Amino acid sequence: MNDNQPKGARAALPFVSKPCPICTKPSVERYRPFCSKRCADVDLNRWLKGAYAIPVVEDEDEDGEGSAPERES
Ligand SMILES: [Zn+2]
Repeated sequence: MNDNQPKGARAALPFVSKPCPICTKPSVERYRPFCSKRCADVDLNRWLKGAYAIPVVEDEDEDGEGSAPERES
């Protein structure tokens, strides 16, 4: 019969503000997930540099959800 497996059973994590990924200080809600605008800028610069380093690959954007109805027989 049907398997009774829960889909994506993930433990519900309590909402905890993660530390700033740049300096690991407690993040501020205004600049989440960073502790300050400065750290946000640092991360942004890293990201941009990383983006430039990565060769641009054009991949087709498929907007369709592609949810084909499954038929159960
Ligand atoms: Zn920080």
